[in-house]
Formats: sequence, structure tokens, C-alpha cells
Amino acid sequence: MSDVMVFAENNGNKIHPVSYELLGKGKELADKLGGELTAALLSGTSLPAGELIERGADRVYRGTAERLAEPIESSYREVLVQVIEEANPEVILIGATNFGRSLAPRVAMALDTSLTADCTGLDIDEEKNFVQIRPAFSGNILAHIKSRTSPQLATVRYRVFPEAGIEEGKEGEVIDVELSLGGEDTKQVEVLEERRGKKVNLEDAEVVVAAGRGLKKEEDFELIEDLASFFDGKVGASRPLVDDGWIGRAHQVGYSGRRVKPRIYIACGISGQSQHLAGMKDSDMIIAINSDPSAPIFDYADYGLVGDLYEVVPELTRQLKGE
Ligand SMILES: Cc1cc2nc3c(=O)[nH]c(=O)nc-3n(C[C@H](O)[C@H](O)[C@H](O)COP(=O)(O)OP(=O)(O)OC[C@H]3O[C@@H](n4cnc5c(N)ncnc54)[C@H](O)[C@@H]3O)c2cc1C
Repeated sequence: MSDVMVFAENNGNKIHPVSYELLGKGKELADKLGGELTAALLSGTSLPAGELIERGADRVYRGTAERLAEPIESSYREVLVQVIEEANPEVILIGATNFGRSLAPRVAMALDTSLTADCTGLDIDEEKNFVQIRPAFSGNILAHIKSRTSPQLATVRYRVFPEAGIEEGKEGEVIDVELSLGGEDTKQVEVLEERRGKKVNLEDAEVVVAAGRGLKKEEDFELIEDLASFFDGKVGASRPLVDDGWIGRAHQVGYSGRRVKPRIYIACGISGQSQHLAGMKDSDMIIAINSDPSAPIFDYADYGLVGDLYEVVPELTRQLKGE
């Protein structure tokens, strides 16, 4: 029992790229453990397993059930537990997406085992212990966690590891699992859209324009949206604006929000405290707009504009649009 299993999250037709990242890391862990890399591919309609194999999986456990068409955690918990019991892996990796974060504790609970949430590093030590690394104490330290329970579950942040490459023609085994789902205990009644920005996938954005407490009122997000739209980018925010309900939580960048790595990150009226930096400091290029020349964000910025965002942002947008 030294296999590593990756939960291949999907929306019914596309596999979430975090699963490819986990396959890359999972292969390394499985090699160190002397085990195999497996994947659990569960969905409402049958999905091809070939790419999971070409990206490193030795075996794919594929299960289909009509009820899995809706992303309901209790249904997924039931079938993933079934697959884990059949495959008997030592380590189970789940992407720390909204769905993964909600599913993983339910699975851990059902298996009466441990879960380390939101890992940013994974390793196997010399005694073959699974080492789960994650920020702790507001990101000031990196905790190395080893668990005594088995199997061991970890959720892993998106965009931390590179995606596993494709080895064309690689062969592997596909096991079609007969799933049994008990009584329905949860139903999706309605899907509500977020107040601003609807569904946003900040982690995939090439450009993020983010606002902080320099913004004086909710309506002023229009300035930020205008600039973001020039780049076809996404709008981010520091935590206080999310806590005030000005924008949905999916837009929060930082330690307790999203970790992003866009080509360009424009921070408008954000001071640059460590919890915010934890989510964006790896961006390729950081541009900071802040009225305080001593704001810590400037220590991390490639370009800094000292000024009032209410003047700088619209002017920048105008010039970029050539107006
Ligand atoms: C456990 C924990 C987790 C946290 N997680 C997160 C997280 O995930 N993400 C996050 O962002 N925060 C997080 N925080 C909060 C964090 O500590 C800071 O409070 C927050 O990042 C500050 O947000 P801010 O920079 O927008 O506000 P402030 O620190 O108040 O900064 C506002 C900035 O705007 C500038 N400004 C003001 N007016 C203007 C203007 N007109 N034009 C230009 N600039 C202007 C000011 O000079 C200042 O630098 C967390 C805190 C804790 C304790």
C-alpha cells in the first residue's frame, strides 16, 4: 500500500488543470514510495481516461453515475470513498479548488483519517513518511506536517506545481468501477451568481487588476473593471473589501484567498501586507499604484506609481485605450 491517488476533478467534460499538476507531483511521490500513481475519474457521463495516463497515471479508476453531473459533495464523497477502498492508496491528493476544499474533509471523515488542507509543498522523507508542507501563522512559517493515520489526504493549491507533461502513446490500465450511490441526501436547488464578477477563475488570469482599501466605495470598482477589461483581465481584491461584501470571496487574493501568478498584477490602493503578498508576489510583473510612497507593496513592485488611484487608474485606462 504505497500508491498515490489523484482525484481528477472535472466539470463533466473537462478535467481541471490542477489535476494535471497533481499528477506531476504525484508521480514523484509514488516513485519515492515505490508505488504506482493512480487517478480517480468520477463524472456524470463517461470521460476519456487517456490523458490522465499520458500524463503519468499507471491506473485510472473510472466511475460514472448520473447524479455526479451535479457537483454535490455528498455524492462525490460516497463514490470517492468507494474507489479509495477498492484501490487502497497510501496518499490521496485533491486540488484545493472550491469543490476540492469542500469534498476532502468529508472524505477524510468518512475514512476516519487525517487531512492536511491547502498544501503548497509535498515530499517523502528518508523514512518514507509523507511530508505535507503548508503556510502557518499567517504565512510566516512553513509547517512540515506528517500524519500517523492512513491513508493520508491532502488538498493542494492550484498553480503551485507545474503540470505533468504528456507522454504520447503511454499505456496504462483503466478500471471501470461499478458505483453504488445510496439515498440522495442533498439536492442542488438553485445556482446563485456572485454579486460582482459572477464566476471568476482568478488563478487562470493572465492579468489581474486588484483593488484595496484605497478604494472609497463599492461603485468605484468600475474604475478597476475598466482597466481590467482593457487587458481582458480579471478583477481581484484585498480581504477588507471582500469582508465588507463589496465583491465576492472568489476575488480575494492572498493567504486566505487565491494564489495567483499572472503575467501582470496591478495593485491599486493595496498596502502590501504579508497576507496579501502571499497570494500574488510570484506574479511575473507587479505594478503598484499607491498614494503613500512608503507603502510596502513598492518593495515588491517592478513598477510603482505614487499617486491617487482615482487619478492614476482612469488616466492609465484612457492612455492604454488610446482615448
Ligand atoms: C489570518 C489572516 C489572513 C488574511 N488573509 C488575507 C488575504 O488573503 N488577502 C488580503 O488581502 N488580506 C488578508 N488579510 C488582511 C491583511 O492583513 C491586511 O489587513 C489587508 O491585506 C490590507 O488590505 P489593503 O492593503 O487593501 O488595506 P490597507 O492596508 O488599509 O491599505 C490601503 C492602502 O491604500 C492606499 N491608499 C489609500 N487611498 C489611496 C488612493 N486614493 N490612491 C492610492 N492609494 C491609496 C494607502 O496608502 C494604503 O497603502 C489577512 C489577515 C489575517 C490576520
